[in-house]
Amino acid sequence: MGRARFRFHGELNDFLPRRQRGAWLEYGFRDRPSIKHAIETFGVPHPEVGEPPDLSAPLGDGAEIEVRPRRYEDPPDGGWRFVLDGHLGRLAKYLRILGFDTLYEAGADDRSLADAAASGRFLLTRDRSLLMRRAVSHGLLVRHDDPRRQLEWLASRLGLWPCAEPLTRCLRCNAPLEPVAKESVWDRIPPKTRLWCSEYRTCRGCGQLYWPGSHYERMQAWIRALRGAGR
Ligand SMILES: [Zn+2]
Repeated sequence: MGRARFRFHGELNDFLPRRQRGAWLEYGFRDRPSIKHAIETFGVPHPEVGEPPDLSAPLGDGAEIEVRPRRYEDPPDGGWRFVLDGHLGRLAKYLRILGFDTLYEAGADDRSLADAAASGRFLLTRDRSLLMRRAVSHGLLVRHDDPRRQLEWLASRLGLWPCAEPLTRCLRCNAPLEPVAKESVWDRIPPKTRLWCSEYRTCRGCGQLYWPGSHYERMQAWIRALRGAGR
């Protein structure tokens, strides 16, 4: 029988019962489990962990391991691309408002979510066991219930604000928007809007028409307020 000790730091303590937080925790084992296996036995999903860097290494007898959260200082190559589970519809919409490529289907099953994560998308979920799947390498468990707090927390954790390009993506289907001439969509613009608005965009995926209306102004004000709070 082998013995090792673990101590969890920072946000990783969110996964532990209060009395275990910040304390050295004993772990007994037979055979040679991986560090990943041991860490997940405590309820901490491997994508949340930054140190030790190699979680696939076998756990040695007598090891004392400090486990620290993963830090995200730069966006991945190609920019942030997300996949969200079915509980996070509002957060998905917010991320699309901010221009992030966000895969979301209300009825998506665990398999398809894990596949999307395996293809390089960053998984956001409320389901800890989904995050523990081997195929998932990048992801976080969303801590808060309120969608606005979820966004504030996520933006601060991943440093999202500098990468945001608000109102460049379709809220319905996630495809990019592109500018379109007013004349070419004339029939689709409400007569009152035609009087004052000259900028229009359409979705490359579903064709939805967008223009900066009062809704847009409210979103801009909201984004500014959140950015201010998130810095
Ligand atoms: Zn669309």
